[in-house]
Amino acid sequence: MIKGIKGVKDLLPEESPRWRLIEEAARRWAGRYGFHEIRIPIFEVTTLFARSIGASTDIVEKEMYTFQDRDGTSLTLRPEGTAGTVRAYIEHNRAAIPVPQKYFYFGPMFRHERPQAGRLRQFHQFGVESLGMADPQADIEVIALLWRILSDLDLPGLTLEINNLGYTADRDIYRPHLVSYLKQHESGLCANCRHRVDANPLRVLDCKVPDCRAITETAPRLSDSLSETARSYFTRVLSGLDVVKIPYSLNHRLVRGLDYYNLTTFEVTAANLGAQNAVGAGGRYDGLVETLGGPSTPAVGFAIGLERMSMLLPESAIINAQKDMPLYVAGFGDHGTVAGLMALEELRLAGFHAVADFRSLTLKAHLRQADRLKCRFTLIIGDDEVVKGSAILRDMETKVQHDVGLSSITLRILSLLAGS
Ligand code: ATP
Ligand code: MG
Repeated sequence: MIKGIKGVKDLLPEESPRWRLIEEAARRWAGRYGFHEIRIPIFEVTTLFARSIGASTDIVEKEMYTFQDRDGTSLTLRPEGTAGTVRAYIEHNRAAIPVPQKYFYFGPMFRHERPQAGRLRQFHQFGVESLGMADPQADIEVIALLWRILSDLDLPGLTLEINNLGYTADRDIYRPHLVSYLKQHESGLCANCRHRVDANPLRVLDCKVPDCRAITETAPRLSDSLSETARSYFTRVLSGLDVVKIPYSLNHRLVRGLDYYNLTTFEVTAANLGAQNAVGAGGRYDGLVETLGGPSTPAVGFAIGLERMSMLLPESAIINAQKDMPLYVAGFGDHGTVAGLMALEELRLAGFHAVADFRSLTLKAHLRQADRLKCRFTLIIGDDEVVKGSAILRDMETKVQHDVGLSSITLRILSLLAGS
């Protein structure tokens, strides 16, 4: 037997209603906030990711699926969606369009990580990018959209954490203070963080290892090195979030694993997701478009993980979404089979969700299948019914049966359903 790849999951029909619910909520809210769908490729040239995400990030250092094309070009399966979206923005000269460009995307992302609950090698994200506005209101809009999607889905135990990363110049002032502190405590850090002290010291603040956390708890704070402009920008973001009633908590250690962020950065975590507790994250990335060769363009966005959202989605949400329960059609006997086929088609054309099992089954077996398929009603048509010109509609819950005329089956069913 050939098996699927480790950390790469199949989405079976039992789980897909959860995903559809999440996707529909994300689409609906993105539309209301004026974001339009962009579909970007699943693979790009490797330099796009190396340059945008940053050479000393976990993603670029060890998580990318990189391979050589036949002509020797290095290609990579996208580990996230922002780089590709920005590449498309530049390539199609979207900066020339006089209105802000606000995009959303869905799709699989690929990272070679250690697979575990909530951490896969092929996972899926919904993300948005708002390009062209350097105003705190753009940050607020994006954060509000994220919060509305998650609230709409009733995901439990969520916290929105937010921090100010300042400008590059602010972090340049801060970094030596942090590095010198970390060097003093180097022996207590995990192996990963000892390496990060030189390569990407801010990432140490984000490490989940308890010893590292204890050390960084008393580390110098970035907030003490921030310029007045960066502070006032952030204050306006926070007061805007208050205005639109989005709850947040400040986390001075929140930094992102990707290099391109500045100013506002945020993450939503869930209390009951265990170790992989981040549902989504994002922030402002004003330098990225220019880094990738485009015109200077301020931008802000986020990405959320669909697998983790699906894990959090309450069962009640699924049940509510399944109100449209199917009708089962059981046709048997020479004439009943033909009449059943006609009824099935007629019901579907009338907009019903109608199903059948075409193997030759007894009535009892058909009813069992109808239960298994969670059908609320079964339409029973045997040869006897055809002779009478009618069929039997059985309520699978109450077991009450009604005779319905075969000639106007959908009308009769509609009125019975309306009364039930
Ligand atoms: P983490 O700290 O969990 O590794 P991250 O900072 O690498 O997350 P981002 O790059 O910000 O994650 O991606 C945004 C979201 O995508 C995450 O909050 C998470 O929900 C989801 N995500 C990221 N990596 C994975 C993965 N390997 N498997 C499943 N979901 C993931
Ligand atoms: Mg990660």
